[in-house]
Amino acid sequence: MAIYSAEHRRLMEMLHPDHHREYSEVLSSLGGFMEKEILPLSPKLDAGEASIVEPRNALFEQGMTLIPFPVEHGGLGLPFSVYATAVELLGTADASVALSVEIHNAVAEGLLRFGDHRQRKKYLNAVITGKTLASFALTEPASGSDSSAMATTAEKKGGEYVINGSKMFITNAGEASLYLVFAKSKKGPSCFLLEAPRQGLKFGGDLKKLGMKGSKTAEVIFEDCRVPEENLVGEEGQGGEYAKEILHGARIVVAALNVGIAQIAYEKSVAYAKARKAFGKPVSEFQLTREKIADMKTGIGAGRLLYLYAARIKELGGDYASEASQAKVFATEMSLEACDDAIQIHGGYGYTTDDLHRHWRDARLLTIGEGTSEVLRMLISRKELARSQ
Ligand SMILES: Cc1cc2nc3c(=O)[nH]c(=O)nc-3n(C[C@H](O)[C@H](O)[C@H](O)COP(=O)(O)OP(=O)(O)OC[C@H]3O[C@@H](n4cnc5c(N)ncnc54)[C@H](O)[C@@H]3O)c2cc1C
Repeated sequence: MAIYSAEHRRLMEMLHPDHHREYSEVLSSLGGFMEKEILPLSPKLDAGEASIVEPRNALFEQGMTLIPFPVEHGGLGLPFSVYATAVELLGTADASVALSVEIHNAVAEGLLRFGDHRQRKKYLNAVITGKTLASFALTEPASGSDSSAMATTAEKKGGEYVINGSKMFITNAGEASLYLVFAKSKKGPSCFLLEAPRQGLKFGGDLKKLGMKGSKTAEVIFEDCRVPEENLVGEEGQGGEYAKEILHGARIVVAALNVGIAQIAYEKSVAYAKARKAFGKPVSEFQLTREKIADMKTGIGAGRLLYLYAARIKELGGDYASEASQAKVFATEMSLEACDDAIQIHGGYGYTTDDLHRHWRDARLLTIGEGTSEVLRMLISRKELARSQ
């Protein structure tokens, strides 16, 4: 199986007629690396028999996280659609590594867009090259979808902010050495950069999860944690807006990740359906199996087009919030269904084989994380109703 397939190549050609060879070279090299180094490790990451650190560092060395960032900061300066495609490929190779990397890079996007010159200079290159692992800390034990109800506070005292409270379900928590933290200050939700380790910054234990087991998820606790005022990102009180903007971009990438998960479930299902016999013939000969194969393939193609459409609007400077959410809602729900079909096609072996049902377990996260399907449907309808006025 070539992770970077002829279909991807054709889409790059359509989206970027003048540069597709260059982009395909980057993606094909990354895909080849993932096939060799990440895909075989994936069952071990799920079983807790391998660490995410080496594959993630290897991807940093391969330059995956450099793709969408400007050359002046050491990035490759390539379009967002190329980066999103790279995350799709990684979703096929291992979803939990893809989750860790996409959240890391979402922090870099936040830094690029909302950080000041000094913050970008200090942190951006270190993050996109992977020297510094980053984490995005918005959700709290008592507030997720409704982030305006956050209880974590940032009180200004002299030249510092003192942060108190906690953040829940934070990817890369404990491993990362840079945290983009959202906390309520006098003017409202604000955004801060926290280097770790530091006094007053603590972590809960790694949470037990259904899937995405290679990635770390933990609570982040602030107890009189002091941050210099120069680590306030952008304007005080604007943190809620920055979080929304960062999440719009991240949703395109999460959609891509889920297309990648559906792709690996599809590949395994096709191979199994051809090999497994019932009533004297391969189960791929039965119409009802073929219906599942056809629906999986169609869903993957549609999900891919939706995330690439949103990515293209983003790279052309348009408002892509609704399209990013449409891509995420569709691709995450599509991949769950595809992974469920994959279990059905594998029969009893589907239910009892970790290396197959882990795709469903991995996909299950993302109708929840980075905006639930319910909340995103509200966002889409609100945006579209306003557009049609
Ligand atoms: C493995 C994992 C990794 C994560 N990583 C991160 C991370 O790195 N950083 C981070 O900040 N967060 C992270 N999260 C948190 C994630 O983004 C939240 O779980 C998600 O936003 C939902 O919030 P919640 O869990 O509090 O659910 P709630 O907001 O409590 O929602 C519960 C249910 O109510 C529904 N609901 C809520 N409001 C409405 C409404 N108005 N209309 C209809 N239905 C509604 C929701 O759709 C959902 O079904 C992670 C979560 C997990 C599980």
